Amino acid sequence: MQTLSEPPTRWSWVEIDTGVLRRNTRAFKSLIGSRQRLCCVVKADAYGHGAAACAKIMHAAGADMFAVATVLEGAALRASGVKLPILLLSEPPVTAIDMLLENDIMPSVYTPEFAWAYGERAAALGRVGKYHMAINTGMNRIGVHYADAAEFRRSVDFHMGLECDGTFTHFATADEPTGWDHQLQCKRFTEAIDNLRAEGFDPGIVHCDNTPGSILNKNMHFDMIRAGIGLYGLQPCERTRSVLPLEPVMSVRARVTNTMYPAMGEGVGYGFTFRVPRSRMEICTLPIGYADGLPRILSNRMEVLFDGQRIQQVGNICMDQFMVAIGSTSFRPVPVREAEIGDLMTVVGRDGDAEITLDELAAKCGTINYELACGFGMRLEKIYV
Ligand SMILES: *Cc1c(COP(=O)(O)O)cnc(C)c1O
Repeated sequence: MQTLSEPPTRWSWVEIDTGVLRRNTRAFKSLIGSRQRLCCVVKADAYGHGAAACAKIMHAAGADMFAVATVLEGAALRASGVKLPILLLSEPPVTAIDMLLENDIMPSVYTPEFAWAYGERAAALGRVGKYHMAINTGMNRIGVHYADAAEFRRSVDFHMGLECDGTFTHFATADEPTGWDHQLQCKRFTEAIDNLRAEGFDPGIVHCDNTPGSILNKNMHFDMIRAGIGLYGLQPCERTRSVLPLEPVMSVRARVTNTMYPAMGEGVGYGFTFRVPRSRMEICTLPIGYADGLPRILSNRMEVLFDGQRIQQVGNICMDQFMVAIGSTSFRPVPVREAEIGDLMTVVGRDGDAEITLDELAAKCGTINYELACGFGMRLEKIYV
């Protein structure tokens, strides 16, 4: 394996492949027409990949807008030098309004109370507060009821301090585009937009497709797609895999911090959930734990890559470290050499011909790749290669 740049203070890190991120962003750009926009969703620190660094790459690769989940995420993105529009995918408390205006972050809006307060404050500052109206078409999370879109606009449009820059909805089942549930959401959204226009309201930038929708249901692209998970090279569902091949951007690597050969029968880690079954079994320690996003439920159930081969994780995963055993499984080819302190192991990603994906780990945890990616982004240092 090539020599990597790595953090100076800890033998574990998240590796972000900037070339792959660029290619994935371009792949989404190529799904849409030249007059349609690509909104790159960089919430939760770009799904754990580092929002500021990713935004720069996405911008260069064709991003037209960024979306965040919290006001602080938006402010941090601005502070990092982002000049493109930033959309907040939620309606924050009115106490956040000054920060929205200071940082030129467009909130999602669906209550008249927030709209009025936002418009008042913007007008007082001699500004116009841009927003995107969220429409609830069936996900039942946030938004104005799809039948009330025009009514909502009537109740807020009089305000000189407000400008509707866009109108959007979010899909609950975009991974099943032919299903009745998805079709109903599409129909409700299309009708709401038609109705707004019929009543003389300009909906601005119309958008609804997330990653699976963008890939599987191109006739709902409207003016913009909002891609998140796919940019990071992760598939939102099995169905998209063959339609838009993507490469994972994130790998998780660590170096061995300790090696030992406990006697047969000795336990490993808290609670001794693994006991050394024979003599001369090498136990190696890696400095990643559940506080780094490696779920403890994977204890004794996951593998890591060493010299291009899979080796078994053993014992309970600790907060900051976990152990692996070399040669624990007789039915696998055993690595030819024993590990030494400083040897590289791969928790997520490729090593030679072998690969451990976030999908594999997510399946073992009963969750989705999204959640694991976010977790690994929380404490591990990120290295951009
Ligand atoms: C998170 C989110 C997205 C992106 O979803 P992906 O499945 O990651 O593409 C788009 N729109 C909204 C409103 C979201 O909350």
